[in-house]
Amino acid sequence: MRGCFGGCSFCSITEHEGRWIQSRSEDSVIREIEQIRDKAPGFTGTISDLGGPTANMYHLNCKSEEIHAHCRRLSCVFPTICKNLLTDHSATTSLYRRARQLPGIKRILIASGLRYDLAVQDPEYVKELVTHHVGGYLKIAPEHSEDAPLSKMMKPGMSTYHRFKELFEKFSRAAGKEQYLIPYFIAAHPGTRDEDMLNLALWLKQNGFRPDQVQAFYPSPMAMATAMYHSERDPLHRVGYKSTKVAIPKGTRQRRLHKAFLRYHDPNNWPMLREALVNMGKAHLIGYGKKHLVPPTQPANHESSRRTPARGPRPGTALTQHTGLPPRSQGGERNPRGKAAGLKKKRRS
Ligand code: SF4
Repeated sequence: MRGCFGGCSFCSITEHEGRWIQSRSEDSVIREIEQIRDKAPGFTGTISDLGGPTANMYHLNCKSEEIHAHCRRLSCVFPTICKNLLTDHSATTSLYRRARQLPGIKRILIASGLRYDLAVQDPEYVKELVTHHVGGYLKIAPEHSEDAPLSKMMKPGMSTYHRFKELFEKFSRAAGKEQYLIPYFIAAHPGTRDEDMLNLALWLKQNGFRPDQVQAFYPSPMAMATAMYHSERDPLHRVGYKSTKVAIPKGTRQRRLHKAFLRYHDPNNWPMLREALVNMGKAHLIGYGKKHLVPPTQPANHESSRRTPARGPRPGTALTQHTGLPPRSQGGERNPRGKAAGLKKKRRS
């Protein structure tokens, strides 16, 4: 399957594969599964992901090629699902059913790439997915909790996430399975303010999520968000000299802070988060309670509590202002080799 009609602004699949979904036939996919089964050395009977970046767009499209050819919308699903979009997932459901009945196939999983705003349009599909094709965890990508960054990403609001979560839990219970959703989020996307990341961190804490791997937005070729990042304007709307600027998290410090909000539970991030909360006038979120985001102190045995700044860099460490060069205010910029170079020599002798 190629293409995507989602049009998320940080992604360029729509731009380089097209908005019209080109789907392989069911027979072709089944043949490939049979070849994997028969030819892959050590095949255990599990297909780890029968999907792709747009798993449940298989055979979905605009109801008419002619309407599609004249349509100028950037996305078929944002800000709302277009009334001309066919959202019946029966082709995908049929493929799943046929694939899991193949001899020698024990499990067919859908690991990622699910558009949950589309999936909720077809509860029968969600039931099929949850009952037979989730391996305990299903990754989905709300990308954020706040409307401002979501509108710049061209992603649906959190109400759709909650609708999908309800269906997911209902069908998991009915199947007698303990399964979990793993939501993914993006830090530092254009249009994201520090307050948005703080609200996301509070949402994560309230919902008991402690993200392990997190991603920060990086401007990449052909993505709409890249134009936002560089122009500081919103190309999703008409751009003129009166257009308001989009908040762009730029610079190492702000990008690190946005990432730190996603990993609010990591003690390494607590000093930075405490400082940010004080600066944002949110010092009441520092404490030991459930409603607090970070505690006021570092854990007693944590590395950061023991670290002595005077120890200097370890041998072989590249010297920067974080690892040994004197601060710029003390002349570090004018004489970068001075004190630090001396330190290096002393270590060698
Ligand atoms: S008319 Fe609707 S479904 Fe068709 S291409 Fe445009 S946005 Fe997509």
